[in-house]
Order: sequence, then structure tokens, then C-alpha cells
Amino acid sequence: MTLKIRRRVSGAPFIHPMDPTPRTAILAPGFQETKLVRVFPAGWTEEAARFHPSSIAGRAEQLRLLAKRGLELKHAVVVFTYQGQAALSDDDRDLFWDSFGVPVFEQHLGAGNELLAMECEAHAGLHVMRDFGASRLDRNSCACGNPAPRFQRRRIDELAEMLA
Ligand SMILES: [Zn+2]
Repeated sequence: MTLKIRRRVSGAPFIHPMDPTPRTAILAPGFQETKLVRVFPAGWTEEAARFHPSSIAGRAEQLRLLAKRGLELKHAVVVFTYQGQAALSDDDRDLFWDSFGVPVFEQHLGAGNELLAMECEAHAGLHVMRDFGASRLDRNSCACGNPAPRFQRRRIDELAEMLA
């Protein structure tokens, strides 16, 4: 067995909703790796299993496949949704919560994996990374302490309109 030490500097930075960042396997290409964040572009592999993540991140399709395998996590599941595509459904959210036994966080990404909006530990909507000045954003303070405005989950299509 060879242990490969890889550091990808190309790709988007991954921002974990938890601080400090737990050991995270990202099951999608195009993200920067750090000591605690590893990228597995082919999805869940033996290599990913050997990494022993306490948190995984990926598209809903990847996570659905993994949900059948009885993998137990300690920290979080981060679900990537993409601009112009459907938001995380309640059915998937429930499935991931039941299967992995950890909180589920949605992250809304642009085409280059750049983070546009993220769900926080208060699970009270998604904080936008940039204030678009849009009136539909919720500017009330959030229990997590992040001052960035939020929009409601499943109203991601409105974010696309704001970005247009
Ligand atoms: Zn918050």
C-alpha cells in the first residue's frame, strides 16, 4: 500500500459550517485540500474509507448512494446544491439525517464550486456570502452569530434571480 500525500491548490476553498473544521471527505472534484479536508473526485472509495472522515460533503446523488452503506459519521453531512438546480429536498434531508445520524447542512455553489450561500448551525436558512441588497433576504440576526443575511431553504431559485 502506498500512501499518497496530495495537496491540491487548484479548486475552490471549502468552508465547513462547523468551527473548527472536522475531518471531511469531499466526494466531488474541484476543491482545495487541507490537512483535514480531502477530496475524493470519484466519490466514496476505499481510499476515502481509510481517511475515516467524521464529516462528508457532496452532491445529493453521491450521498444517497452512501446512505445505503451504513456509514456512521460524528459531525456533519454537507450537501452541495448548484446554481440553476434544485435545492436539497426534505426527503433527502431526512434520509441523510436518519442514515448518518449527524446534522445536515446545505451549501449552494456556483459552477466553479464557489460558495454562494451556506446553512449554519442554527439551521435557519442559508447565509449568502455576498449581500445582494435584495429585499427578499432576511436581515434579522441569526442564532449562530453570523451577520450575513439569509434566505429560506428551498427558495434557492430566488437567489439565482438576485445574482442575475
Ligand atoms: Zn446562522
